[in-house]
Amino acid sequence: MTTHPNSTVTALTAGVQNLMQEVAQQSFPTRTLYVVATPIGNIADISLRALYCLNLVDVIACEDTRNTAQLMTRYGLHKPLIAAHQHNEREVAEKIVQRLQAGERVALVSDAGTPGVSDPGAKIVDAVRAAGLPISPLPGASAAISALSVSGFIQDQFYFVGFLASKSGQRERQLQPLLTLPATLIFYEAPHRIIETTEALLAAFGPQREIVFARELSKLFEEIARCRLGEAMAWLAADKHREKGEYVILLAGAAQADEAKDHEAQRILSILLESCSVKQAAQLAAQITGQKKNALYELALTLKSSNDEEK
Ligand code: SAM
Repeated sequence: MTTHPNSTVTALTAGVQNLMQEVAQQSFPTRTLYVVATPIGNIADISLRALYCLNLVDVIACEDTRNTAQLMTRYGLHKPLIAAHQHNEREVAEKIVQRLQAGERVALVSDAGTPGVSDPGAKIVDAVRAAGLPISPLPGASAAISALSVSGFIQDQFYFVGFLASKSGQRERQLQPLLTLPATLIFYEAPHRIIETTEALLAAFGPQREIVFARELSKLFEEIARCRLGEAMAWLAADKHREKGEYVILLAGAAQADEAKDHEAQRILSILLESCSVKQAAQLAAQITGQKKNALYELALTLKSSNDEEK
């Protein structure tokens, strides 16, 4: 473990104190629901404004009061907590609306990350919005966005899928419309289902599609791995700890139609070139793909010369 000079900690402590004074001058209106992101693993990943807000509100609605109590204790904060989980969200929403109407400030947190994203919270936010009361987000950790930021996938678009169904038929139906989507796909997964889900993704998307495993982000055993789906099971099998842990899975988006056609032509030509001349391979590939013979001839020449160089 690396230790850092005390002077750095001292300098930061002073800076943080000054910033807290600044936050205290900022506006936190009453009658407002504050949707506060909390850490997804590392206790220190929470903003100064979020901490200030948690200490200012009259009550905190949380997914599991024990989890939130732990977070509060670590920061030396004490506030009344009320449980707001998926089984009581509607009833709690009404109580929260009443408290806001009475002039209170209420914070909403989930166990980890951003409330309302594959977590309870959306129904509460919806009820507060319907009652015409203000809602304000305090941005912070999100497993999906953290994983996307380290994926290295360069597609601008992404599609957040969240959790897939655990039943295989339902899961296949969920995956079907995603196969040709030209956007990075983001999945959440329960800790014990990583193998099953990776197998399902391999079966649906094929071995060539790239996958990123973002495991235990911001925790001690954080791992980020990128490979083809065809290599993914071997990566999981290489360390038995990888069968468990919190994962975000990302898949590269589908290649655009032209790109996909080029890949297919290249794949066909490579096979044909193993037993045919360049001319014959181009002719046959043109018959199979319907693409222009001249373009395929040029491509076959390039493939042949790069194959010859490799030998
Ligand atoms: N609302 C949360 C957010 O914004 O990040 C997500 C909550 S969802 C119930 C929990 C899922 O998020 C986990 O099953 C896993 O897929 C992902 N996740 C949460 N923390 C993670 C971490 N530290 N590393 C990797 N994935 C994580």
